[in-house]
Amino acid sequence: MPEASVLPRNSTRAVRIGRITIGAGHPVAVQSMCATRTADVEATVRQILDLERAGADVVRLAVDSARDAAALPEIRARTAANLSVDLQENYRLAAQVAPHVDKIRYNPGHLHHHEKARPVRDKVAFLAEVAGKNDCALRVGVNCGSIDPAQAERFGNDAVAGMVASALEHCALLDGMGFTRYCVSLKDSDPAKVIEANRRFAADRPDVPLHLGVTEAGLPPDGVIKTRVAFEQLLSRGIGDTIRVSLTVPNDRKGEEIAAGRQILDDIARGRFRSVPENFGKRLNIISCPSCSRVENEAFVDLAEKVRDLTTYARDHAVTIAVMGCRVNGPGETDDADLGLWCAPNHVNLKRHSELVGTFGYDEVLPRLKAELDHLIASRGPARGAA
Ligand code: SF4
Repeated sequence: MPEASVLPRNSTRAVRIGRITIGAGHPVAVQSMCATRTADVEATVRQILDLERAGADVVRLAVDSARDAAALPEIRARTAANLSVDLQENYRLAAQVAPHVDKIRYNPGHLHHHEKARPVRDKVAFLAEVAGKNDCALRVGVNCGSIDPAQAERFGNDAVAGMVASALEHCALLDGMGFTRYCVSLKDSDPAKVIEANRRFAADRPDVPLHLGVTEAGLPPDGVIKTRVAFEQLLSRGIGDTIRVSLTVPNDRKGEEIAAGRQILDDIARGRFRSVPENFGKRLNIISCPSCSRVENEAFVDLAEKVRDLTTYARDHAVTIAVMGCRVNGPGETDDADLGLWCAPNHVNLKRHSELVGTFGYDEVLPRLKAELDHLIASRGPARGAA
């Protein structure tokens, strides 16, 4: 029987991340991300070790503050895991984190927030220099919910084109600086956009290793199904060198992301393609982030599960509800959903597309969500296929 390691692959460059290498025919690496507070060294090391036991090739951590960065030396001392760090707006933290990790992810869409007058090219040069000096790989992590404003404006409603253009722009910048130890990701919560973006990018840059993922895929089993849809289409065409299955699960079940990723790889290698349930994507679609150290309130996963349970009565309606864990990605990622909830420490923001309906306590928001959903359904008429 074929093994996942012999999947046909694009001939991408080799990119080393600590003790593993992605691309150039190496086995597809499976990743996950800690959802603990990074500054909480005990909890974070425990979760890294759990993920390693589950078979993670790379473990990612979020670093948003000097306090998070200050925790990294001790975390590094207590684990040999291949560590990747996710930087959001404060790209300068790279200098503090790089000596202690193996890879840094930056989001081109977030380089504009700090030092607005400094050209993006200089910021990328800084990141490449820091990575080069510290034996780190980079990931250019483009996300549909936070596309570089210049590219978003250029392509208007064609978000996929904006994502691909942003990724290509940053590849050209890094190549021009002589830095080639990088991979790229193009993520969205819609598997169809993930497929399209990655296919277009790979057609242009078949040499650049790709990190695949469907962001905010949500709760199992739907989250696994959405991810499988994208991965089957891409990996079977030789596209993809490392993967993450992003699931909304409690901290002690994060290993399920690794198990799901390995299962999908194994099934694809054996030609076991799973059919997607009929009308999947044309019915109620709940997207929810996998949570990470930035989550504003531990009640988030519980809230996502309650939203799923509360809304089952609407399963035949083509409505998208987004449930997000924090202010970093919550406001942007809920804009495209029919109804969105994003968590603050003591309240939940409820939205109708980009419009804020109001802020509600964690114990008040569900009835308000149901009222909004009922109103939306009534305004649209009978569900698909209804008598
Ligand atoms: S929305 Fe916030 S809490 Fe959820 S995964 Fe993204 S950054 Fe983390």
